[in-house]
Amino acid sequence: MEVECEHCGRTVEVDQGVGRPRKYCRRSCRQRAYERRRHQGDVAWGDARLVAMARELADLEDRLDRVRDLVDQLRFDVDDGRPVDEGVLGELAAQLAPTRQDRLSVRAPGG
Ligand SMILES: [Zn+2]
Repeated sequence: MEVECEHCGRTVEVDQGVGRPRKYCRRSCRQRAYERRRHQGDVAWGDARLVAMARELADLEDRLDRVRDLVDQLRFDVDDGRPVDEGVLGELAAQLAPTRQDRLSVRAPGG
């Protein structure tokens, strides 16, 4: 009986004896197929990771924008000789307080 190698498509002669039927024409095809399956897992994991990282980055950019606005408000107050707004200072301190988001979860795949 003949089947196609699951990796390269070449015809494989299989005898229907004992044990698992051959799926690949040779050893290297079996090895390549194994590596590809393993790598597919890495890619799927990487995609999920990238989506999460993009979201974290967007959140950090929002915070950075807010900090810039607050600093501008303080600068205007100082330039105009007004007393510094305690509310603005408080929010600035809150925005700059360390949070879990301060460290992007960048890791090498599998690391
Ligand atoms: Zn093959």
